[in-house]
Amino acid sequence: MDINEKQKLIKSLQEEEKLILSELTELARKNPNVKGDFNVPFPNEGDSLDENAREITEFERTKAVVDNLEKRLKDISTTIEKLNANSYGVCEKCSVEISADRLQAMPTANLCINCAKVHSHEV
Ligand SMILES: [Zn+2]
Repeated sequence: MDINEKQKLIKSLQEEEKLILSELTELARKNPNVKGDFNVPFPNEGDSLDENAREITEFERTKAVVDNLEKRLKDISTTIEKLNANSYGVCEKCSVEISADRLQAMPTANLCINCAKVHSHEV
């Protein structure tokens, strides 16, 4: 990967990072003690059983979205760190170079296709 490509990728990752952060700030409150962690406020619609059930559903739905965004944010910052440290595009498990096609489709990939397959079976 040449320096221009690298800069371009870092820039687009940083833009995505900004977008995710603003989404997270809308949905949740930043945890001042843990970097990259957001707390979902519990909604308060009322005290009836119906309302309480709705609050729980809403909370869980928001929490799932926030968890995904947090994970994505972490992937992005890890990827930016790797780009800056010139260790980008290497599989975290087997140290093989991740194929350019895979990186193009998924710039934050941290496993090669083989390890990703094994990993997804584990989960
Ligand atoms: Zn691998």
